[in-house]
Amino acid sequence: MSRISLDRVGHAYFGRTVLDAVSMRIEAGECVALLGPSGSGKTTLLQIASGLVTPLRGQVKRRYRRHAMVFQDPRLLPWATAADNIGFGLRQRGVRRAERDARIADVAGLVDLDHDDLEKYPVELSGGMRQRVAIARALAVQPDFVFLDEPFSALDVGLRRRLQQLVLERLLGHRAGLFFVTHDLVEAVQIAHRILVLSADGSGLAGERQPDGIPLQRDARSAFDLAETYLATDPLFADLNNVENRRAV
Ligand code: ADP
Ligand code: MG
Repeated sequence: MSRISLDRVGHAYFGRTVLDAVSMRIEAGECVALLGPSGSGKTTLLQIASGLVTPLRGQVKRRYRRHAMVFQDPRLLPWATAADNIGFGLRQRGVRRAERDARIADVAGLVDLDHDDLEKYPVELSGGMRQRVAIARALAVQPDFVFLDEPFSALDVGLRRRLQQLVLERLLGHRAGLFFVTHDLVEAVQIAHRILVLSADGSGLAGERQPDGIPLQRDARSAFDLAETYLATDPLFADLNNVENRRAV
């Protein structure tokens, strides 16, 4: 059974259509990347799928125990240390101190935060470190579904690649479903079982591609080559780098 399914979802802001008749599903252990030009409704669709936004039309079904979200900006509690930010959801759920500390140490290690970093407050951390705290916070609750909105954009290229690999491997290894928004086709090709593309004009999903091979096992070179091929030859990706161009209703 799908972890999540959307049936003919439509949405508009102030009478302007952003999404129309979007149907999609994501299975356990599957990573689906959502691509589309800026303003095409990627974030809106992610918010609808996660329940943060109620769509004007259509249905969303969620069948998972616990989800986590990683936004483009870290959204940390400014008055709490990095460790307390990571452990916030665990504390809320009544996970005991020792277990909490063990999980915090585990996920912090995965995203390369050391003991000193964990004692710091968000204001004392760099942008990239704050984003890693946000990623660790999502991992800490051991989610079986994760919504990610351009989660690695704030990280520099080398670290980004490595964290992407470690974090997504961990989640998929636990059979989580992943809904991953990105505007980077190379990233999508590297990580996704399937790539969904939103059309630029608010008319919904323009199409879907399934790159050959296994996500996270495609090497950088072949991911790059495939992305280049898509951009050069596949009309589905023609509008990807265009800015917003939506019809009025
Ligand atoms: P993307 O993530 O693909 O850049 P968004 O989902 O953020 O796209 O936005 C899609 C369109 O909806 C944009 O034109 C944006 O300005 C508009 N929009 C997004 N959120 C709101 C909102 N809360 N109120 C009004 N308009 C919004
Ligand atoms: Mg967005």
